[in-house]
Amino acid sequence: MSAISQSRGAPDPSLTDEPRPLPGAPSGIKVIIVGAGIGGLACAIESRLEGHEVILFEQTKEFKPLGDNIGLFPNSGRFVKRWGIHYELSKSCAYPDGLRWYRYDGQFITHQRQQKKGEDMGDANPFKDAPLYDTTRYDLHQLLIKRAKELGVQILMNSRVAKYVEETDFAGVEVDGKLYKGDVVLGADGVKSKARELVLGVYDAPRPSGYAIFRTSYSADRIRANPICAHLAPVDEDARSIWIGPDAHFIIGTTKSGKEMHWLLTHLDKADVEESWMYPGKVEDALEYVKDWDPVVKAVMETTPEGALVDWKLVFRDPLPRWVSEGGRTCVLGDAAHPFLPTSQQGASQAVEDGVTIAHALSIAKKKGLPLNVALKVYQTLRYERVKRAQQLGVDNRNRMHKVDYTKPIDPEAVQLQFALWLWQHDAIQHCHDNFDSALVAPMVDQLTSASPPVAQADKLAIEQPVVAAVAAA
Ligand SMILES: Cc1cc2nc3c(=O)[nH]c(=O)nc-3n(C[C@H](O)[C@H](O)[C@H](O)COP(=O)(O)OP(=O)(O)OC[C@H]3O[C@@H](n4cnc5c(N)ncnc54)[C@H](O)[C@@H]3O)c2cc1C
Repeated sequence: MSAISQSRGAPDPSLTDEPRPLPGAPSGIKVIIVGAGIGGLACAIESRLEGHEVILFEQTKEFKPLGDNIGLFPNSGRFVKRWGIHYELSKSCAYPDGLRWYRYDGQFITHQRQQKKGEDMGDANPFKDAPLYDTTRYDLHQLLIKRAKELGVQILMNSRVAKYVEETDFAGVEVDGKLYKGDVVLGADGVKSKARELVLGVYDAPRPSGYAIFRTSYSADRIRANPICAHLAPVDEDARSIWIGPDAHFIIGTTKSGKEMHWLLTHLDKADVEESWMYPGKVEDALEYVKDWDPVVKAVMETTPEGALVDWKLVFRDPLPRWVSEGGRTCVLGDAAHPFLPTSQQGASQAVEDGVTIAHALSIAKKKGLPLNVALKVYQTLRYERVKRAQQLGVDNRNRMHKVDYTKPIDPEAVQLQFALWLWQHDAIQHCHDNFDSALVAPMVDQLTSASPPVAQADKLAIEQPVVAAVAAA
């Protein structure tokens, strides 16, 4: 494995993000975004920095503290400083010293190391300007909302988009019977996207993936109160541990210097339940999957507060033939375009890459005097193959952990999560500027699927170029 590793030093808490960047000079472009999730907000913030006017519709009445651990990996973390939220976001992050791996029966496998808090590789760190933020979805989301508002994004809550409209000279959405018009409409409406169907005319019924995740987060004091599992939540520190078993894995991690914790159990599942971050789960059902496992795992599960568990069914969706409408003024992005398996750890990062690419493709098209509908087609061409390759990592990582031959000694290198330099070193904004012209003349990606790099090649690259991983929830 490569010696390159991600710096995990927590910044000095007295440092601030001031002065924060201001909105760019008005570009004359009006962007409508549907969905104030991670992708929609990333696009909104970057669009304001580029001077676009942004109106964002969100169906939720108010944001609740839902979800648990999420990671912005270096390929999206590199934009956090430019948005002016690096120090604030860093305060909510975890800085574990790595990931401890166990067999399902409790036998120790390996300690996949990360750098300890405060250590720094200085200039030798290839990711020093592109940190990894291992945080909670709620903290990240709250900061993005705050920053978007500061930059002048108009966020309309309780506004569910039910209809998309597109003419040659505008794109729009209908909310509560009122039509809102913009130059482009971006459907960032998540994994259960309606935009997919309404914009692209594609109804891609979700298929059960055969897997589901029980997941939860709560105060780490509950873990420390039980002597069987207290060692997993050291005081004032963050820690990560994983147990792998036949077709299942269990992760426990703490954040905010050991104050909060989360656990996740990914397991085989036959039920056909809709994807939702709000579907309640029962601890006794989760315990059934680990009845032959290490008692430490069971002890953790038993500390779960009443009503805190979510039962999240993972579904597959076939890759969309395209992400952009025929007219080119409407598109989907983030999970709406390409849901990710959690084991890829790239769902949020790829949504961010989409968002910043669109903001810059619009600016470039405008500066070149091109019609704005070419910008979204360029976005798709620039992003489609990269996203497909990143999605494959999720399947590979899961299989690496779930398909272990327990009759033989375990090779730690063979089970660890793999990351690839091609994934982390990518700068989506730079890529957009460098490749806009060639993407402009390239045929749309849906005509190119037969020319996609074979998956086997992508696998090979991922395995040949691993970096020591900082592991968030998978
Ligand atoms: C409540 C919640 C909690 C989550 N928690 C985690 C977590 O703990 N860990 C993790 O890895 N991932 C989590 N995710 C998923 C994660 O945010 C995404 O996989 C990833 O960041 C890609 O983001 P996205 O913007 O494409 O989609 P999302 O972040 O899912 O955002 C989609 C947004 O669109 C809104 N929306 C949907 N339909 C409409 C409509 N018709 N009109 C207006 N608005 C609409 C939704 O309410 C939502 O706010 C969570 C998602 C949600 C919604």
